[in-house]
Amino acid sequence: MPGMLHHYFGGHRVAGSSGRCGDVTNPATGEVIHQVPFASTSEVDEAIAAASSAQPGWEAVTPQNRARVMFRFKTLVEDHMDELAELVSREHGKTLADAKGSVTRGLEVVEYACGIAQLLKGEYSGSVGTGVDSWSMRAPLGVVAGITPFNFPAMVPMWMFPMAIACGNTFVLKPSEKVPSCALRLVELLEEAGAPEGVLNVVNGDREAVEALLASPTVQAVSFVGSTPIAEHVYRTGTACGKRVQALGGAKNHMVVMPDADLEQATDALMGAAFGSAGERCMAVSVAVAVGDRVGDALIERLKPRVESLKIGPYTDSEADMGPLVTRAHHDRVSGYIDCGVEEGADLVLDGRGFSLQGYEGGNFIGGSIFDHVTSGMRIYKEEIFGPVLCVVRSEGYEDALRLVNDHEFGNGTAIFTRDGDAARDFVQRSRIGMVGVNVPIPVPVAYHSFGGWKRSLFGDHHMHGPEGVRFYTRLKTVTERWPSGLRKGAEFVMPVLH
Ligand code: NAD
Repeated sequence: MPGMLHHYFGGHRVAGSSGRCGDVTNPATGEVIHQVPFASTSEVDEAIAAASSAQPGWEAVTPQNRARVMFRFKTLVEDHMDELAELVSREHGKTLADAKGSVTRGLEVVEYACGIAQLLKGEYSGSVGTGVDSWSMRAPLGVVAGITPFNFPAMVPMWMFPMAIACGNTFVLKPSEKVPSCALRLVELLEEAGAPEGVLNVVNGDREAVEALLASPTVQAVSFVGSTPIAEHVYRTGTACGKRVQALGGAKNHMVVMPDADLEQATDALMGAAFGSAGERCMAVSVAVAVGDRVGDALIERLKPRVESLKIGPYTDSEADMGPLVTRAHHDRVSGYIDCGVEEGADLVLDGRGFSLQGYEGGNFIGGSIFDHVTSGMRIYKEEIFGPVLCVVRSEGYEDALRLVNDHEFGNGTAIFTRDGDAARDFVQRSRIGMVGVNVPIPVPVAYHSFGGWKRSLFGDHHMHGPEGVRFYTRLKTVTERWPSGLRKGAEFVMPVLH
């Protein structure tokens, strides 16, 4: 009988009381490993109340002392790296090496948050008038919330809460109901690092919990990462309720391969970027744009044997290149897209449907697939598949390739592979995409830059972590101060001008 997980708020594990719950499965076997409670509105309100009562005390802790908690948290996450990676892999299915890489990328944000005292430094102008000084400072918002997707159970929450908390806010996290365990462990580690109870809270749940967070007047801001339709809904609802919202959505990342590119390097890049983590990454390359048929033929010739020999296995297999898809429903969805591509007339060079792994027949495994001669009108080109399916589009020239990148509704990431500096520079300048790589297939910004897409890959004005993270989780206050020491001008009824 699988055990029931819990929520965590106000410094304690809290048993779910709504009577609603969901199954959490091991994607490699299909086995239900535990159940996760789905919070009711009143349970979410309790978690928000815990965050709210902790907030004034936490804001009063000096930035340097908040940073010290982050330093200890960083060390604890490092000490528990194997355990956290196992929690990620067991529920998500990705390989342990990949899971560790993702925890490490999350940890980089914690390292950035350790510099919060420096990051919160305001601006000061002395003598803006006689005896008058002015400065600006950044104040925390209060209680903020994060809603996260299944594909990065540690990293995406760590894009959010370390920055929010270091800025002096308290946080309510609603992780994906498919992968809840890692978040529940992270909150325990943060408290072990010295965060007072109620500073970070985790409520598990589904749509009802999300709606409760969006409706709460106490929650000042919401960070969301997930699919585009839900991101748009969260943005519209949250902003209509007067909140600040950053909502990151789906993607269809194009990698343009120019005729002068190093094709071996480009093939290596495509293998990792399209098939790593079974394609379940918002920065995965799902479209290769071959500039010219010569490049298209050469890429297909190189990719086909490499994809055929991909090593697919459970996360416990240290040799595996990729694992299964997260759920059976997602497996069937990805498989349905392959059916669709065939019906639409794309050339299915490699078919991952029907892949089965001996001993793991109940798992959600699917093989790598390649479609060639994909065109921009096809659904497999327009929609996010979120699986190990690479679409190769052939473009006549560079301008044609750039137009494809720019005309797509998503604008998360893109890359160009070339030896031509002119082309690379032009691509960087003219692509309407949030994150651009030059000979780098997955250009995820480091923690001290900010992460985010354009177009329908992000709703809101702020990207995540880095300087934009500080701006998102704080509001600006500007002070003008006079110590007149005998200077008295009487009442002024016109717009005051400082002299
Ligand atoms: P999802 O949109 O299904 O779920 C994301 C979160 O929203 C979860 O916590 C879920 O419980 C909640 N949710 C789901 N349905 C809801 C509803 N009807 N109302 C309110 N809340 C709801 O996304 P997912 O399948 O977990 O994750 C995959 C998606 O996330 C992909 O589209 C991927 O591109 C995207 N993603 C984007 C980024 C990015 O940085 N842009 C990063 C990672 C993942």
